[in-house]
Amino acid sequence: MNNIMDNFSKSSCCGCGGCAQICPKKAITMFEDEYGFVYPRVDSNLCINCGLCTKACPFKTSEKGKYLSSYLYIEKDEKKRSQSQSGGAFNALAEKIIGLGGYVFGVEIDKDKNIFHSFSNDLNGIEKYKKSKYVQSDLRNTFKECADLLIDKKLVLFVGTGCQVQGLINFLDLKNIDSTNLYTCDLICHGVPSQKLWKDFSKFLEKKYKSKIKHIIFRDKSTSGWHGHVDKYEFENGKTLVGRYWTNIFNSNAYRDSCFNCKFTSVYRCSDFTIGDAWGLEKVYPNLDDNKGASLILVHSSKGLEFIKDICDKEIDINDFSQPRLCGDNNLKRDERFLEMYKNNPDKAFKHYLFPNKFILKIKHSIKKIIK
Ligand SMILES: Cc1cc2nc3c(=O)[nH]c(=O)nc-3n(C[C@H](O)[C@H](O)[C@H](O)COP(=O)(O)OP(=O)(O)OC[C@H]3O[C@@H](n4cnc5c(N)ncnc54)[C@H](O)[C@@H]3O)c2cc1C
Ligand code: SF4
Ligand code: SF4
Ligand code: SF4
Repeated sequence: MNNIMDNFSKSSCCGCGGCAQICPKKAITMFEDEYGFVYPRVDSNLCINCGLCTKACPFKTSEKGKYLSSYLYIEKDEKKRSQSQSGGAFNALAEKIIGLGGYVFGVEIDKDKNIFHSFSNDLNGIEKYKKSKYVQSDLRNTFKECADLLIDKKLVLFVGTGCQVQGLINFLDLKNIDSTNLYTCDLICHGVPSQKLWKDFSKFLEKKYKSKIKHIIFRDKSTSGWHGHVDKYEFENGKTLVGRYWTNIFNSNAYRDSCFNCKFTSVYRCSDFTIGDAWGLEKVYPNLDDNKGASLILVHSSKGLEFIKDICDKEIDINDFSQPRLCGDNNLKRDERFLEMYKNNPDKAFKHYLFPNKFILKIKHSIKKIIK
């Protein structure tokens, strides 16, 4: 049987590390390429060709998944909604799980700006998962931790991107873990830049503004609302920066190759739920759009439907809320020069894409005018 490196292609690897977590011989290690994207590497001296890594891979899964129905969710508690990225769907699911004595897996950011999955079983503990961190999260050992909790008959909610959740489902299947107590929730996902790129970028800002960043909100609703896409940085020297900084960098120029070949872009998924922003609300229900955030919840299993029946009451037609990553759109554009420039000189790339030289822009503008 083959191992994961046979016919390997970067565009079919989301870097979930599921192959490394499943390998019985610890033959797989994850390494960072020159852009900071993580990929597996197999030690052929240890590999016994059992094929488990290939079976664990979310990009090799042929199951299409199901789609049952969709709901609009707008959290009534204004404080909770303001703390959430969209309309508070994650909080509603997580609070119910915690209330039932369960455990929630989500993504946090630490003081060194590492972005990673962890789990918690109390309401204070899930606060750190709120707000989207638009960077690839490091799953660390969470597939194994989730399996251990399920073996212990604990109730679990696991939230991640579509590829991460599919990786978890495959891992648990291969380990023959009873998943009756597991609820999986993936996100509508446009793509992810690497942790290295994110950390280099935050160092660039710290140098430019001569102070350490103590708090970051990747998409800040408090300044220009849910529709405004701005990021916010609070520095140790008391300064605050708000604007399209990371927002402009993390666009498709910086996504990993697999995000241009994503398999998790339709309404059909193997998770129980998919959550995301209810973009288009202003057209469908203008009276409900107060620019403070609204969520979509897509349900893919009867177990999921049963779970949310006391959470959601407003069923919607998903066609009214269509967006690229729900209708199979992989047609993202990438300016290849960005990653090339970043590889050679990160600061130069950030400066060029964020603060283009005004003099050169002026000349380009005049040349265009003359050509016209
Ligand atoms: C990389 C990324 C791309 C996204 N792209 C889209 C999109 O194209 N369209 C769209 O409608 N929505 C997208 N979303 C989802 C959206 O930003 C919100 O996360 C989602 O609507 C949940 O909002 P909430 O109010 O329910 O949750 P909140 O209470 O804000 O909770 C956020 C949830 O997201 C999880 N999370 C945070 N960062 C990450 C991460 N890096 N990786 C995995 N999970 C994470 C947390 O664990 C938590 O469960 C994306 C999210 C991420 C992280
Ligand atoms: S084939 Fe088996 S032993 Fe070899 S790398 Fe894959 S999981 Fe590990
Ligand atoms: S997608 Fe995940 S399981 Fe598949 S090769 Fe990449 S890291 Fe391994
Ligand atoms: S776009 Fe697809 S491959 Fe990329 S992180 Fe999101 S779900 Fe994974």
